[in-house]
Amino acid sequence: MEMKEMYGSLGISKEVLEFGLKIEEQLKDRFAAIDETAEYNQMKVIRAMQECRVSDIHFAATTGYGYNDMGRDVLEEVYAKTFRGEDALVRPQVMSGTHALHIALSGNLRPGDELLSPVGKPYDTLDEVIGIRDAVGSLKEFGVTYRQVDLLSDGSFDYEGIRAAINDRTRLVAIQRSKGYATRPTLSVEQIGELISFIKSIKPEVICMVDNCYGEFVERIEPLEVGADMMVGSLIKNPGGGLAPIGGYIVGTKECVERAAYRLSAPGLGKEVGASLGLNQSFFQGFFLAPTVVAGALKGAIFAANIYEQLGYSVVPNGSEPRYDIIQAVTFGKPEGVIAFCKGIQAAAPVDSFVTPEPWDMPGYDAPVIMAAGAFVQGSSIELSADGPIKPPYAVYFQGGLTWYHAKLGILMSLQKLTEAGIVRL
Ligand SMILES: *Cc1c(COP(=O)(O)O)cnc(C)c1O
Repeated sequence: MEMKEMYGSLGISKEVLEFGLKIEEQLKDRFAAIDETAEYNQMKVIRAMQECRVSDIHFAATTGYGYNDMGRDVLEEVYAKTFRGEDALVRPQVMSGTHALHIALSGNLRPGDELLSPVGKPYDTLDEVIGIRDAVGSLKEFGVTYRQVDLLSDGSFDYEGIRAAINDRTRLVAIQRSKGYATRPTLSVEQIGELISFIKSIKPEVICMVDNCYGEFVERIEPLEVGADMMVGSLIKNPGGGLAPIGGYIVGTKECVERAAYRLSAPGLGKEVGASLGLNQSFFQGFFLAPTVVAGALKGAIFAANIYEQLGYSVVPNGSEPRYDIIQAVTFGKPEGVIAFCKGIQAAAPVDSFVTPEPWDMPGYDAPVIMAAGAFVQGSSIELSADGPIKPPYAVYFQGGLTWYHAKLGILMSLQKLTEAGIVRL
């Protein structure tokens, strides 16, 4: 069977495929650069695994308290070496990115301290962790205050505002690398480094924490290499490589990681407890695959940006700018566009492709939301997934793809659904 017939058998028309292939042809150089970054990062991971003498004994399961879990300890050493930290906490007991950020913050802040975000409002789920929105058990309830300095209108740092915000109670600065679902730009690691240098020039002892979600392995360097004390993320995003079924990580200085560990388990216990329950192999293997998985997701994001930009839609980031995370936004301007796009992503999935996503009133949102995900791991956003609130400007956010070929199929299928709905004419 010819390639075109193969795509045809999945429901992709000749016109859609040809349009996609024309765009792909224009992206050869960018894809080559992404492959080179993946190759570099692959070497980084392999070198760390070799230096830590990873062996199949480290894949053995522990239960109960998990004392002397060699696999867990070596996995943490591999993360620390790869990301250039002194120590790491990488655990299935960390339930999500938000949980990892919560223990990093609450483990390192004490009553009377102040937390500063110099990059605007953090990711939504942190509102209640910090107490921006009142919540039981928030940092605010424990006497930790919060201050925020927004980015300037051109997306740059408000250095004077940051200088004015730092005071003798400022203990920890939280820097979010990815824009998440906000409209500000994603920060490069280099920009994060400049910000950290500035902050430490004012107050050297302040802890700089980077929310690294969606950023791992996108560049050759990571935030700890430019002065961060701690970086935090989720294993069902980039570093889990699609194989980790749960988990979160914190990598950084020994003191920062230790304090977070005492919060995760209990004072006095710290990193010494926590059975890995047979998940170590998935964690090691997922981390090993993560650089190439991230490369596939990045190619998908760039492919989509160029397809929809060429068709006249507004896309963030645009088709040609550099990438610092794996998220892509496309604005369709009408609900039918968002819905057709999500239906295409769903129809291209390896799991639940027969399901039709519909907008629904999700708790916590002020408009119906449509979500497409046909994932092996529930909620995994390193797997191809898309969602969009059904409200102006009718934008869809999408990310992931365990392989470039699947990301490509998903995007072609989204275009197929948009043409079938009469929204796009090729
Ligand atoms: C996903 C994400 C989080 C939260 O992670 P969850 O696993 O969804 O709790 C925090 N910050 C950023 C920037 C994220 O992208």
